[in-house]
Amino acid sequence: MYINRVGDADNPRFEDPSQANICRHSVKSHVEELAIFGGPPVFPYKLHVGRPNIGERSALLDRINDILDRRWLTNDGPCLQQFEKHICELIGVKHCVAVCNATIGLEILAKAIGLSGEVIVPSFTFAATAHALRWVGITPVFCDIDRATHNIDPRQAEEFISARTSGIIGVHLWGRPCNMDALVDLTQRHGLTLLFDSAHAFGCSYKGRMIGGFGDAEIFSFHATKFINTFEGGAVVTNKDELAAKLRLMRNFGFVGLDTVACLGTNGKMNEVCAAMGLNSVASMDTFIEINRRHYDRYRRQMAIVPGISLALYDEGEKNNYQYIVLEIEEENAGVSRDILEKILWAENVLARRYFHPGCHSMEPYRTEQPTASAHLPNTQWLVERIICLPTGSAVTSNDVASICALVSFVIENAAAVQERLAMGGFPASL
Ligand SMILES: *Cc1c(COP(=O)(O)O)cnc(C)c1O
Repeated sequence: MYINRVGDADNPRFEDPSQANICRHSVKSHVEELAIFGGPPVFPYKLHVGRPNIGERSALLDRINDILDRRWLTNDGPCLQQFEKHICELIGVKHCVAVCNATIGLEILAKAIGLSGEVIVPSFTFAATAHALRWVGITPVFCDIDRATHNIDPRQAEEFISARTSGIIGVHLWGRPCNMDALVDLTQRHGLTLLFDSAHAFGCSYKGRMIGGFGDAEIFSFHATKFINTFEGGAVVTNKDELAAKLRLMRNFGFVGLDTVACLGTNGKMNEVCAAMGLNSVASMDTFIEINRRHYDRYRRQMAIVPGISLALYDEGEKNNYQYIVLEIEEENAGVSRDILEKILWAENVLARRYFHPGCHSMEPYRTEQPTASAHLPNTQWLVERIICLPTGSAVTSNDVASICALVSFVIENAAAVQERLAMGGFPASL
C-alpha cells in the first residue's frame, strides 16, 4: 500500500464532486485586500500552470519495481514497446517511435525526412518548434496565426513559400487542431513535407479522426507539464514504414546490429522508467480528461460574464484533452491590461503564464537574424499582448478554480479602483 498524496488522480478525498458547487464565495471585499497591495493572498500555496498529472501512484511504483527486477533500464525495453504499441492503438496510427523529449524527436524527424533550407512555422508556439529546426541548420520562417484559432494561417503560409522551402510545421495549439485540410492541400500543391507539432494534442481529434495520423508525421510531447507525461519524453507518430524505420535507427546512433552503424544517429531513446510513467499516465487518461473538463466548464461559465475576457473554447464535436485554460484579455473592456492582471494573480499565488509571449520571432537568435519578421505577424503581435494561461489539471481542485474565477471577476469589476490604487504607488509587489 502506498499513501496517496495531494494531486493524485486516485485520491478520492482530493477532488470531491459534492464540494464542487459550494464555493461561490467572494475572495476579496475591497481592493486594499489584494495581495499586491499588502493583503493576504487568496491561496496559501502556489497554483502552477501545468502542474503534472500523476495517475495511480501504486501502479507506477509496481511497474518501476519490475523494471529494477529485470535490470532492463533502457534500449527498447518491454515498457517502451508496450507504451509505443498502446499509443498506436489509441491514435490509430501505424508507427510510434518514442523519444527522450519532443524537441530531440523533432530534430531527428527533420533529419530523417530530409527537411532543409527553410521550413514555415507559426511564431506563436513554444520556442522548441523553431529551435529544433534551427539546431539542425534549417531556417524557421515565421508565419502568422488566425486570431480565432491561434493556429497557423494557411493563406499566409502559402505567401511565404520560396525556392528554399522544404516543408511546413503546423502546431495544434492548446490541442485545437490546425486547419489541416488547407495545409494538406497547400503542401500537396507545392510538393512540401507537412509535419505537425502535436505537443498539446494527445487525445484530441480533427473531424472525428485522432490527431497523430495527419501529414507526413506528427510529434507528441510527454513533458511533465503535458496532458500525458513520461517525466520527460515524446513520440514521433507516422503511417510511413520507411520513415519509421529511419527514425528508429537515428534514435539509437544508427545501430542496426550490435556493431553495425547504418547512418548518422543520435541518442534519442526513451528509458524504461519514463515509458512506465507513460503507461501509467495513459491508464488514467479518462480521469485526467474528466477533471480538466470539469475545470474548463467552470471557467467557461464564470468567465462568460466577465467583460473584456474571453476563454479559448474547445469544439465539443471533437475529442479534447482540455489541458489548457487560455484567456484573452481585452484591456479596453476589462479595464486592466493582461500584464497587470498577471501581476495581481501572481501576488495571490496564482502563477498564471503568458504563453507564448513574446512569440518566437522576438526571441534569440531569430530576433537578431530576422529583425523584420514582426511586420508580417500582426495577429501574433496582437495575441501575445492579450494572452494568459491559468492553472488547471489534477493538481487543482474545483474550489481552487472557483476562487481563481472569483478573483479575476473581482479585479475586473474593480478595475477602476485597482488602477487608481496602482497610480498611487507604494505597494510592495513591483510592477
Ligand atoms: C512542450 C512543447 C514542445 C517541446 O516538448 P519537449 O518534450 O519538452 O521537448 C514543443 N512544442 C510545443 C508547442 C510544446 O508545448
